[in-house]
Amino acid sequence: MTATDSTQAADLIEQTIDSYRRHVNAGLASLLKFMGFDTVETEARGMTVRTADGREYLDCLGGYGVYALGHAHPRVVAAVHEQLDRLPMSAKTLFDPVQAQLASRLAELTPGDLAYSFICNSGAEAIEGALKLARLYTGRPNFVAAQNAFHGKTMGALSASGREVFKRPFEPLVPGFTHVPFGAGETMERAVDDQTAAVILEPIQGEAGIILSPDDYLPRVREICSQRGALLILDEVQTGCGRTGRMFCCEHYGVVPDIMTLAKALGGGVMPIGAFISTPEIWKVMEPNPLLHSSTFGGNPLACAAAVAALDVIVEEELPARAAETGDYFIGRLHEIAAQRSDLVTEVRGRGLLIGMEFSEDDVAGLVIAGLAQRGIIAAYTLNNPRVIRLEPPLIITREQVDRVVAALDESIAQTAALLAE
Ligand code: PLP
Repeated sequence: MTATDSTQAADLIEQTIDSYRRHVNAGLASLLKFMGFDTVETEARGMTVRTADGREYLDCLGGYGVYALGHAHPRVVAAVHEQLDRLPMSAKTLFDPVQAQLASRLAELTPGDLAYSFICNSGAEAIEGALKLARLYTGRPNFVAAQNAFHGKTMGALSASGREVFKRPFEPLVPGFTHVPFGAGETMERAVDDQTAAVILEPIQGEAGIILSPDDYLPRVREICSQRGALLILDEVQTGCGRTGRMFCCEHYGVVPDIMTLAKALGGGVMPIGAFISTPEIWKVMEPNPLLHSSTFGGNPLACAAAVAALDVIVEEELPARAAETGDYFIGRLHEIAAQRSDLVTEVRGRGLLIGMEFSEDDVAGLVIAGLAQRGIIAAYTLNNPRVIRLEPPLIITREQVDRVVAALDESIAQTAALLAE
């Protein structure tokens, strides 16, 4: 980098951070700086994010689960370019072949008789649609959700979520939500009744701190819902598209939901998109008035083209199997660190490449994240549990890259321990 380049880079960084402070959110600017991310991203490919001042980061956060395929996967980028040149946005009143292709592909790939999709723009929007569909189909008002769940931050999705700090300032939220402990079948038995439209769960709780349920939990919830005429909504926004070692996480448990939600990785890391998917029987209630639920940008050709290409890549490159294999290796290596650092690390858990490392305190996790940033690794904590660092890299991460992350974690934890001992 020449002297002029580095002056330009320094200016860009200063101006960007200043604009965040003055026009985006000063608190966010401070938080990013505290986590050690005091620079500006300019380019990303595969596992690597590059910055204006010539730094390179290995992405171990994967945009909170967006980058299953890595950054800017060439096949997804090419599909979007091709669509962009031909028909970026739909005329809305004609049939759109790309949306049709995506909906058909989702019907093929999702388990059981899930067959109809509504395509929207984000995870929270997919949740809103799923909740509305459940009320519409059952004619019942109530929902049962899990404590500490995360389903997004629009009013309905926030009502289903389970962390008070995000909810309380916006009350009153949507009525009719009860929250029960995640993983407890007995409590679920008592909570679901003839007024329950749906139970909504993440198959593995992501933002709660990567929490897995006992193996018999989801099958039992499925049974409870079927017995009582309530629908089961599984939120696969974060766990879907290969992240946990299967195309959809519910497949580990042999459970088929009545409604599944997807987003994040569905857009191949190139376009924002979400979807809720259900069965022909349930979808019938959407047919008498097909505009009862709609979205101007939902199902736009650019996002759908990205999703079709992304699903092809996930299947052809066998990314779910790769996530399972690399995930087992990664979790094994993290257990080694945890065993040596039991003073600070309280647990390692996960499935596939959705992995959490829990620390004794929020501050310890924060310092370790900053230590990782110093060593060129992007990581972050889980939104509903700041004591847990999430390791959620693109599914293409190699064992050598895992080893690099593990070595950096080891050093960052040692550095944190030394700091705390001062
Ligand atoms: N559901 C789950 C399980 C999530 O993890 C998230 C986001 O992290 C959402 C829903 C909300 O998605 P979005 O941020 O795209 O609205």
